[in-house]
Amino acid sequence: MIEFERSQRQRKIEPTKRRCHRCHGQGRCACHACGGTGKVVTSRDVMKGPEMGRCTACFGNKTRRCPNCGGEGFVT
Ligand SMILES: [Zn+2]
Ligand SMILES: [Zn+2]
Repeated sequence: MIEFERSQRQRKIEPTKRRCHRCHGQGRCACHACGGTGKVVTSRDVMKGPEMGRCTACFGNKTRRCPNCGGEGFVT
């Protein structure tokens, strides 16, 4: 009886990985610094208008590693 209970408990402890709700299992999510464009306004010139440069937060990749799952795409 005791052995039976132990095996049941072990089955429950077994970690179940669930898909990350934030990145939907992608492991990456859109960069918030540039809004997923990869570019940010680096300077505004009254004459020339806003100057766009590569986003320093995502390095122009448009996406960043998901902070919720750490890039795994799954959370335990
Ligand atoms: Zn960015
Ligand atoms: Zn995630």
